[in-house]
Amino acid sequence: MVGAHCVNHNKYSIGVCYEGGYDARGQHADTRTPAQKSALRQLLADLHRRYPRAVIVGHHDLNHRKACPCIANVAREYADLQPE
Ligand SMILES: [Zn+2]
Repeated sequence: MVGAHCVNHNKYSIGVCYEGGYDARGQHADTRTPAQKSALRQLLADLHRRYPRAVIVGHHDLNHRKACPCIANVAREYADLQPE
């Protein structure tokens, strides 16, 4: 089923989200807990096995008006799970 997570990219992508992304002052921040980081990595590793040609990017990388996922550098953090 086509999702509705990223304008112009929904037809060929899988949206992955985590709860958070705002600090106590309401500013964008990487607020992932260790458990969220672990779960996210496990999910992305599973998706990488199933879709080895899929590139992992942040919402911000496709729409610069978005701040999410508030991870400093998605491509670098998951470099080991990117296509070869
Ligand atoms: Zn987003």
